[in-house]
Amino acid sequence: MAGRKVWVAGHRGMVGSAIVRRLAAEDCEILTVDRDALDLRRQAEVEDWVRSRRPDAVFLAAAQVGGIHANGTRPADFIYDNLAIEANVIHAAHLAGVAKLLFLGSSCIYPKLAPQPMGEDALLTGPLEETNQWYAVAKIAGIRLCQAYRLQHGRDFISAMPTNLYGINDNFDLMSSHVLPALLRRIHAARRDGRDRVEVWGTGAPRREFLNVDDLADACLFMMKHYTGRDHLNVGFGKDISIRGLAGMIAEIVGFEGGFVFDASRPDGPPRKALDISRLSGLGWKASIGLRDGIAATYAWFLDNHPAA
Ligand code: GDP
Repeated sequence: MAGRKVWVAGHRGMVGSAIVRRLAAEDCEILTVDRDALDLRRQAEVEDWVRSRRPDAVFLAAAQVGGIHANGTRPADFIYDNLAIEANVIHAAHLAGVAKLLFLGSSCIYPKLAPQPMGEDALLTGPLEETNQWYAVAKIAGIRLCQAYRLQHGRDFISAMPTNLYGINDNFDLMSSHVLPALLRRIHAARRDGRDRVEVWGTGAPRREFLNVDDLADACLFMMKHYTGRDHLNVGFGKDISIRGLAGMIAEIVGFEGGFVFDASRPDGPPRKALDISRLSGLGWKASIGLRDGIAATYAWFLDNHPAA
């Protein structure tokens, strides 16, 4: 990355901000632009901006993201915003001759009933999970966009598909967040208020894999430097945990001694979502932040940055 101009699209988000933190250790120039200065859903504006700034490399971390409830209630935002952002940034990068682009997706691209852990070749082998299919279809289109520009124009555009993420700058809004920040916030509030029960959506049985976003940022840099393949690569932690187990671990970290009430009227989503990470491991990268340590660090950040919650 030395001496290169690197654009992090989506630098205010959890993933983009982690990539910016990680890039600080590299000898490169970091480009960012705020949402009110550039709406990535506006094609002409994106093309003008990329043409004038001329980045050498792009991390495409900008996206409309959210948990199981947000996806279910705002399907148009999830499919339209993500398709527009990807199409505009990838095409603009091609027009401006950007040497390398890394597109970020998510493990929800895989079929609902894909064999676990899910390998890269499970893509498009079966029906998607209904709860987040809008987001998933857009992210699958992003992978194919990168592949199409590689085939037709020889562009070295690659894709990373991370498992469920958490960490600094996560969204702690209870209705739109993912499970880990939601439980961290509710369990913290219950301990503070002296309550002895915390509500957990669904049955508690689904299993999820969680990767700290600082590990993801490190993997993105690794791929940017060392990976030039056409296939997308999974980025995961390599171990999963049930939602019930996650709630228990968070309770220990927060010091909450009460119990949990499972609200089975809320959707469970897929029964298990774990990634097969052997391809990326085979190239020499693996995660280094354990779940317990990562949650403890995220909790400390939450206490410093959301004092009102
Ligand atoms: P998913 O991995 O795409 O299904 O996204 P989520 O992180 O939103 O949900 C993961 C699992 O956690 C689902 O089974 C949810 O029902 C469950 N869950 C339990 N409590 C909560 C909560 O407070 N918020 C969210 N978003 N999910 C929760």
